[in-house]
Amino acid sequence: MLRLYDFCERPVVNIITGHGVDLSMHFVQVGMEYDVLKENAKLAHKNYRLLKEHGIKSVDFMGSIGSGKTTLIIRLAEKLRAKGLRVCAIAGDVTGDDDFARMEKSGMDAVNCNTGSECHLDANLVAKALEKIDLSRYDVLFIENVGNLVCPADFPLGTDYRAVVISTTEGDDMVRKHHSIFLHSDLAILNKMDIADAVDVDPKVIMDDYGKLTGGLKSMYTCSAKKDMGLDEIVAALKL
Ligand code: MG
Ligand code: ZN
Repeated sequence: MLRLYDFCERPVVNIITGHGVDLSMHFVQVGMEYDVLKENAKLAHKNYRLLKEHGIKSVDFMGSIGSGKTTLIIRLAEKLRAKGLRVCAIAGDVTGDDDFARMEKSGMDAVNCNTGSECHLDANLVAKALEKIDLSRYDVLFIENVGNLVCPADFPLGTDYRAVVISTTEGDDMVRKHHSIFLHSDLAILNKMDIADAVDVDPKVIMDDYGKLTGGLKSMYTCSAKKDMGLDEIVAALKL
């Protein structure tokens, strides 16, 4: 076993930007994974520098299938466009272009990014997607990661922020079951608050688990992307 900071210098949550807190007890397996993660970290730094050269703020949205990432991205983009910001998205999926099509239909600029078989985006795939975007035309980039709460945690893409999106429909045990992704991200978003009662989930349980896991040093924001609740707070949290 190797401590995370043995290859990224600092045991921080977002190894690209240094956001977050010391979580040096998190371990990464040595072996083949070491090279893959090291290579990814290098490419992520490159992506980060490229985006910064163009003055672009960026967010990686991670979360399970059905947590509402696409709707959230579309709604946040609408809010930012209303503020005069130019937004583009990378829609990550294993196959198909459903999310990409939804984004385009909503009036936002987007690029589709299929992983083929991988269950997460990596910095190399994002670098290739960035080549298809005229970066001089945008202020904000949203990346929708592949629906998965496990491995995206290990693959930073070079964004300013990494946000985990979960929804009340996934049950009240999501934080307890997926420590790694919550520790590797800067903030969490609990979506579909409007139907929490209907699915018999107490959001307080989820938020308390998150508070305990992160030592109260990170925030979980509640929202309903569909009902346009809580989105302004998320825009503010992401400093957009
Ligand atoms: Mg989606
Ligand atoms: Zn994966």
